[in-house]
Amino acid sequence: MIKKLLEDLKPYDAKLVAVSKTRSIEAIMDLYNKGQRIFGENRVQELVEKQALLPKDIEWHMIGHLQSKKVKNIAPFVDYIHSVDSEKLLFEINKRAKQFDRKINVLLQFHIAEESSKYGFSEAEAIQMLNSDEYKSIDHLNICGVMGMATFTNNKDQVRSEFKKLNSIFQKLKKEYFSTSELFKEISMGMSGDYKIALEEGSTMVRIGSLLFA
Ligand SMILES: *Cc1c(COP(=O)(O)O)cnc(C)c1O
Repeated sequence: MIKKLLEDLKPYDAKLVAVSKTRSIEAIMDLYNKGQRIFGENRVQELVEKQALLPKDIEWHMIGHLQSKKVKNIAPFVDYIHSVDSEKLLFEINKRAKQFDRKINVLLQFHIAEESSKYGFSEAEAIQMLNSDEYKSIDHLNICGVMGMATFTNNKDQVRSEFKKLNSIFQKLKKEYFSTSELFKEISMGMSGDYKIALEEGSTMVRIGSLLFA
């Protein structure tokens, strides 16, 4: 399955985040041995436990909702945090990155779905944060782009329009706040059920679990 998936991603030059939540060490090692190095988890404790047991050249991505008080547990090793959904969390990640003398790559999560259960900034909230004085003190983060999750629905037009919206937020932020940043280039969108639409709409990172480990 991974081979076919990588072929699908190739024309778009998009990265595969293998979502390994709930999967065993053996299942992860199986993908590792096929060359996969980027893995994503959505819970802090599981991420910490797996990181300790698995090879050190794995690039770990936190993709799920993250509580500020737990940032310190992953700050020493996490490569990417996709799910930055509040100003408070952004500052906490910056503080912990500084403490461990490293830079952490982050994505700003946007709420693009119809479902209220999904986390994320609205465009207005993000703009307010980016304009704030506190934001200027951020010095241990690489702000690499945006992340979003579409509504869980069979309606492909709706999913496509939500991905389009995320892409347009990305373009707007790029133009107005990150025009001089070479780092701000990622759009993390697309899961097992909707990654093809996400790629067509400009995804640079797909987060895929069930399809990959099936
Ligand atoms: C579980 C999860 C995924 C992967 O979902 P699949 O449908 O299994 O591919 C992607 N993103 C987030 C945030 C997740 O929690």
